[in-house]
Amino acid sequence: MIIIKTEREVEMMRRAGIKLARLLDEIIPGLIKPGVSAAYVEQKVNEYMDKEKCIPSFKGYGGFPYATCMSLNEEIVHGFALDTKIFKDGDIISVDCGVTLEGYVADSARTYLVGNVSEDIKKLVKVTEESLYEGIKAVKPGNRIGDIGYAVESYVKPYGYGVIRDYVGHGVGRKLHEDPQIPNYGTPGKGPVMRKNMTLAIEPMISLGDYRVEILEDNWTAVTLDKSPAAHFEHTVLVTDNGAEIITKL
Ligand code: MG
Ligand code: MG
Repeated sequence: MIIIKTEREVEMMRRAGIKLARLLDEIIPGLIKPGVSAAYVEQKVNEYMDKEKCIPSFKGYGGFPYATCMSLNEEIVHGFALDTKIFKDGDIISVDCGVTLEGYVADSARTYLVGNVSEDIKKLVKVTEESLYEGIKAVKPGNRIGDIGYAVESYVKPYGYGVIRDYVGHGVGRKLHEDPQIPNYGTPGKGPVMRKNMTLAIEPMISLGDYRVEILEDNWTAVTLDKSPAAHFEHTVLVTDNGAEIITKL
C-alpha cells in the first residue's frame, strides 16, 4: 500500500530532508579527499546526527552496521564505512544516508569525486546525477511509477552505461522502505499511479560497464560483476499538485 502523507507528515519529512541535505552538500564535500578513510566520514556523520538530534536511519536496519553506505569505485551500494577504505586520487565514493527526525525519514545519496578523476568516470557521475533529475521530471499526479524508470533509462542508454536493475528506489517517510518499488527502468504508463503527497526516493545506480552485480562476503556490499565503477544519486521527493518537490536539497 502506498502511503499518502498528511501535511504535518510532509512538514516533518522536509525538516529531516534539510538536515540530510546539509550533511551531503555542505559537510561531506569538505571531508572527501585523498588519504581520508570512509570510517572518518562515518564518524563525522554520527557526530552531526547527535548534534542535530536525529537518528541515522540505516544503522541497524536489517542489521546494517553503519549510518552511511560508503561505496567506493566498483562498489555500487551498501558499502561498509571501514577504516581500511582510504580514498585515493582518482576514486569515486558514493555516500548514501538516511535521517530520521521525530519518526520521519528522508533518504538521499551523492557520488563524490576524489582529487583528479578521469574524464570518462567524471562523465559517468555527471550523467548519473542528470538521470536522477530526468526521473524526477516524470513525477506528477496522474503519471505512473514506470514513467520514472523509463525517463532514467532512456536518458542513460545513449551513453552505453549499465543501469543497475537489482536495486531500486522506493516509497519513504514513515519507514525507510515503503511501497512502491521504483526501478530505474520501466515502461511508460505502467505501474502505480502517483498521487499528491506520496513521498518517493528515486535513486539511479549506473555503471560504466555491465549492469550485473555481485555481493561481497560481508553479505552487504554490492559491486559490479565486471568491476567497472558505478555512481549513485538519490533524492527524496514529494508529489505536489503539478510535479515534484525535492526535499533533500538545500
Ligand atoms: Mg538511500
Ligand atoms: Mg533509498
